[in-house]
Amino acid sequence: RKADALKNRSADDLRSPICCILGHVDTGKTKLLDCIRRTNVQEGEAGGITQQIGATYFPMDNIRERTKELKADAKLRVPGLLVIDTPGHESFTNLRARGSSLCDIAILVIDIMHGLEPQTIESLNLLKSRQTPFVVALNKVDRLYGWKPSPGAPIRAALKQQSKDVVSEFDMRLSQIMTELKEQGMNSELYYRNKELRKYISIIPTSAISGEGIPDLLMLLVQLTQKLMEDKLMYMSEVQCTVLEVKVVEGLGTTIDVVLVNGVLHEGDQIVVCGMQGPIVTTVRALLTPHPMKELRVKGTYLHHKELKAAQGIKITAQGLEHAIAGTQLYVVGPDDELEDIKEEAMQDMKSVMSRVDKSGEGVCVQASTLGSLEALLEFLKSPAVKIPVSGISIGPVHKKDVMRASVMLEKKKKEYATILAFDVKVTPEAKELAEELGVKIFMADIIYHLFDQFTAYMNNVKDDKRKDAAEEAVFPCVLKILPQHIFNKKDPIVVGVDVLEGVAKVGTPLCVPSRENIDIGRIASLEINHKIVDTAKKGQSVAMKIVGTNPEETQKMFGRHFDEEDELVSRITRRSIDLLKENYRDDLTIEEWRLVVKLKKLFEIA
Ligand code: GDP
Repeated sequence: RKADALKNRSADDLRSPICCILGHVDTGKTKLLDCIRRTNVQEGEAGGITQQIGATYFPMDNIRERTKELKADAKLRVPGLLVIDTPGHESFTNLRARGSSLCDIAILVIDIMHGLEPQTIESLNLLKSRQTPFVVALNKVDRLYGWKPSPGAPIRAALKQQSKDVVSEFDMRLSQIMTELKEQGMNSELYYRNKELRKYISIIPTSAISGEGIPDLLMLLVQLTQKLMEDKLMYMSEVQCTVLEVKVVEGLGTTIDVVLVNGVLHEGDQIVVCGMQGPIVTTVRALLTPHPMKELRVKGTYLHHKELKAAQGIKITAQGLEHAIAGTQLYVVGPDDELEDIKEEAMQDMKSVMSRVDKSGEGVCVQASTLGSLEALLEFLKSPAVKIPVSGISIGPVHKKDVMRASVMLEKKKKEYATILAFDVKVTPEAKELAEELGVKIFMADIIYHLFDQFTAYMNNVKDDKRKDAAEEAVFPCVLKILPQHIFNKKDPIVVGVDVLEGVAKVGTPLCVPSRENIDIGRIASLEINHKIVDTAKKGQSVAMKIVGTNPEETQKMFGRHFDEEDELVSRITRRSIDLLKENYRDDLTIEEWRLVVKLKKLFEIA
């Protein structure tokens, strides 16, 4: 079937590229969309721009009209541009098919006054990992001090109107941002200076308020998609369709909002979508798009279609969609298809994401609203800079059963993993209550890196607490030599001068005398080097040391009677103290010090 579909492709029959807008919060993504959508009054009602479900369609005539000042070549052959209306990660990550992106091109918005921000970097990484071509809209140029607006003008014309000061501030900020992009491994260039579209990211300065640079942006989007991926844009008759949102609509029940990327959908088609409880097989009851007349659109009346051809944003009504998962693909069952095969294929999306869970069974639980965002979150947690293991995943709100699952980690002595990272989902009150009762932590955020920050802060706290708990019992290794002329007090407490022969002497360390049948003489209570109180003394240092017995027997021990300057003092270590040291202070000890631990372990005949 696929081969047939490929055979029937032709460069004369291109579909519209699909475009997403990404970027940090408040960079102007929404405003930019509004600005692109705003049509010239003279052009008539809507200039051919159509509101679809979750997307806006710009016909090529409209784009040509708006870019005519740029005198771009007229060879633009794609029928138009489909821009996804909800900016941000969510829609981008849900436009997916078997791990690759269905978004043909993206606009990454950067605020010229702020440069790269955390979500800019997150977006960059997403775009990189899905290998999606993109352009940078360097937005808010009108905020440069002294900017003279030329509404709707191409950016070069607008820049010509500016004073020297404005231009030099613009240049300075641009070059700063290009450096920041370079630090993220991206070469970039102002779009009209960019001679190598495949190597350099094009930057288009814009203002979503006064409209400068918008014609440039539109033109570049179409040019780029056509140049870089004509092949990908050839229309295919095979249906390629992604569920962007699952929504309950009054009077319609549960509906799915989809983007039809390729092919044709018909009313009455038998379809299969991935569901929480297995594949959902159902029949398209209605194919809907918003009403072209604004007043009716507000009232929620839709246009019904017998069939719709890609690329399109469509609302589908059908029975049994309650458990459909956003971010998965929709399949049409053709006359020659085996339903069972398609059912299996439909669940493949879910399976491939599920298979990313750590096999060790130890790790946090993560939960997201859609398969696309879950996948993005998992990718992030796996990245080398983060490396948080995941033991369980789920889609949708956090319920009691999810808390129960996370609580299993408490029994595994991995308290810190008894955690749910909830990405853009709700937590039911019962789940919240149970989590508190059981000691399961739930972190909520709708920005990936916020979740990461919260969890990292929590992990550091857990580590600190553990170290504090362990401090009493984790024994650092040392070998000490008593200095004969420096016996200040023989007993209760013993105060002597010592040389640290090996390892580290640390306040709190219990000491014993191996040459005298390992008798225990107490713990190091304080240390002084040159009359200065210190916590630790390293190999090679000489230090005055107070040793205090921790029980009546130890208190009895006396220099000169139970031991003398001939005897070395060493840390009293045990199996448990070694384990605690390993667990909490692994990186605090040098290799040499770890060797000393091994030596002492033999001395004390610890298994
Ligand atoms: P989003 O969070 O990225 O969708 O950002 P918004 O589109 O909501 O914009 C955030 C704020 O920046 C709003 O107050 C906008 O009016 C403002 N804004 C957006 N674009 C521009 C621009 O080009 N110039 C100026 N001066 N303000 C802008």
